Amino acid sequence: MLLIRDVARRVLWDTLSLMVDVDCPCGAPPPAPCPACRALLASGPRRVEARHPALEMVTGADLDAPLGPVELSVPLMPLVAATDYDDRTRALVLAWKNGGRAALVDPLSAALRPAWDRLLAETGRAGAVSPVIIPLPSTLRARLRRGEDHTAELARHLARRTGARVQRPLRLHDRGQKGQGVRGRSVRRLGMRPGWRPPASGVVLLDDVATTGASLRAAHRAVVEAGGVVHGALVLASAPGPSPGISRSGRGKMEIPRSPDRTVPSTSRR
Ligand SMILES: [Zn+2]
Repeated sequence: MLLIRDVARRVLWDTLSLMVDVDCPCGAPPPAPCPACRALLASGPRRVEARHPALEMVTGADLDAPLGPVELSVPLMPLVAATDYDDRTRALVLAWKNGGRAALVDPLSAALRPAWDRLLAETGRAGAVSPVIIPLPSTLRARLRRGEDHTAELARHLARRTGARVQRPLRLHDRGQKGQGVRGRSVRRLGMRPGWRPPASGVVLLDDVATTGASLRAAHRAVVEAGGVVHGALVLASAPGPSPGISRSGRGKMEIPRSPDRTVPSTSRR
């Protein structure tokens, strides 16, 4: 019953948005997205794993670094974003997720297609059997509000554009807990559906927006613990991370500046 109502509502919205010219979520007059928002979505995919602190994997320490001990880390996985998270992309994503503008899934999934190609090319998967797309599950509250899981919907549209398959083995274990993320944001606690069999072609994770990367990290761990191979992750938009060189989470981490001038970082700790 609930399902029928939700489908009817979506069909109605989609039909209305085709019949009626609606403003772009950024406030510009029709069409939506407006040319400026379309240009932003077409601005080209970018590798962003280095922006998201939760996607770092500590591999060791350099005890002899010139400025004192330094943690060495590598990215957990490649992360490709279709664009950056700014006021314009925020308006687009929120209108799609919470504003009933379901038809926006079309331009948004189109923006993900070059990101998909780039991820496959840079991980040596181009031409190989497509990885399976695994969307991160929305919170229960978000699903109740929208009547559907928007990231799964995005995954279906991306799959149509790429010929890849979608699987949805990730499950929310319980409500997100506050305070685990680097910025104190809630983090989704994720596990795998029992009996999931990892695809031989590996998987690509999909989420709408990456902030700290903590949810992607949790998803990566869940898939790997179940025996899966994660080639990387895709997001519509990546929020800029903290500026480099600043210690985070009380870990006492610091980074060596890339410039030869090593007297600069007064924020570094020994
Ligand atoms: Zn716009």
